[in-house]
Amino acid sequence: MFRKQAGATVMTADELLAYDRQHIWHPYSSINSSLPLYPVESADGVRIRLADGRELIDGMASWWSVIHGYNHPVLTAALQKQAARLSHVMFGGLTHEPAVELARLLVEITPDPLDLVFFADSGSVAVEVAMKMAIQYFHAAGKPDKKRFLTIRSGYHGDVFHCMSVCDPVNGMHQLFKGILPEYLFADRPDCGFYDDWDEADISSLERLIVENHGSLCAVILEPVVQGAGGMRFYHPRYLKRVRQLCDQYDLLLIADEIATGFGRSGRLFACEHAGIAPDLLCLGKALTGGCMTLAAVLATRKVGETISDGEPGVFMHGPTFMANPLACAVASASVKLLLDSNWEQRVGDIESGLRQGLAPCSTLDCVADVRVLGGIGVVEMKEAVDMETIQPAFVDRGVWVRPFGRLVYVMPSYCMSPEEISILTTAIFEVVAG
Ligand SMILES: *Cc1c(COP(=O)(O)O)cnc(C)c1O
Repeated sequence: MFRKQAGATVMTADELLAYDRQHIWHPYSSINSSLPLYPVESADGVRIRLADGRELIDGMASWWSVIHGYNHPVLTAALQKQAARLSHVMFGGLTHEPAVELARLLVEITPDPLDLVFFADSGSVAVEVAMKMAIQYFHAAGKPDKKRFLTIRSGYHGDVFHCMSVCDPVNGMHQLFKGILPEYLFADRPDCGFYDDWDEADISSLERLIVENHGSLCAVILEPVVQGAGGMRFYHPRYLKRVRQLCDQYDLLLIADEIATGFGRSGRLFACEHAGIAPDLLCLGKALTGGCMTLAAVLATRKVGETISDGEPGVFMHGPTFMANPLACAVASASVKLLLDSNWEQRVGDIESGLRQGLAPCSTLDCVADVRVLGGIGVVEMKEAVDMETIQPAFVDRGVWVRPFGRLVYVMPSYCMSPEEISILTTAIFEVVAG
């Protein structure tokens, strides 16, 4: 046992691991887990340095977020400058330059009717906030019966309760929380892939649900074009266009969850742009701060904001303690500017070609069901779920960090990854998957 004392001596990597295994939860983990766990010493650019000195080329960008690479001097400087001035102050009755500057940037770069910004602490909270806004909108508009949500299967929207209620009902473990989770409507997942010819039959399931239930529905919530953690699928932009039309026709709000896709990941600044549509509510997170720290935002149209504010109770009922944290806002502004000033379209395009070329050989393997690439996202879908106990060390031994889940081996590198590094990454994926 370690003694609880201030200024404890520095732990060795082995001690640190031992303590972690005894006391700390990891994402989706068991406290009895024997799965590998690697202490990280530092990270720079696209490389993660482990405590034992090994360096890994990172394919995950820490779950979509580290778009400029680790330890970026511009982001670190923004953080340090802001920390010397104001790390935090409550947002009730007070405001500050980092929040205003970031809001201006976000309003400027997102589709036109989005004009209002609500800052939240994490992606899940942003989704929760957007769902509450949709409910309050119809309540204020004198249509309180419109309070249910419609979504599509294979989606992922976060881990808190209302987010879980619109995650895929199978992957999202609705059974476990049955009776506690609200039960919402699920349309069939879109079948038409991004590169397929559009088939109007693809929208029929969602259309039927809207036609039959619009009187009780307030919003459709979905991930535009790219479904992330619910299956890593890329669907046809026309599907999204049709959803927008149906929402307009039947008086539903459209909530676009771009927490994974925002800031260039799909090849467009926002995935909604593939379909040329604007949502009524847009959720941003993950890459918002370039992966430096947690921050999320919900953008809303002025119509949504005015309706909520003109109705009962006249205010939007949410206000996180760390709302618009100045450190996070300052880093986010620096990250967004860094992105806009970079040739990100070219970079993401180059990553797309590199992934397409590098992952193509995987489709010749018997164990592989599908290989797909869109923007800075590469996916190898296996026929069977991978064995994390063996696959994780196999990647680390080849000097790369890839973190599969289920049947999905996938990567979304930082935009600064070089063609040579992409090639090392994809070669490792081929070798590991081939076994
Ligand atoms: C990650 C993610 C979330 C949840 O964000 P957290 O910051 O993990 O709470 C919600 N929606 C999508 C599409 C995501 O990828």
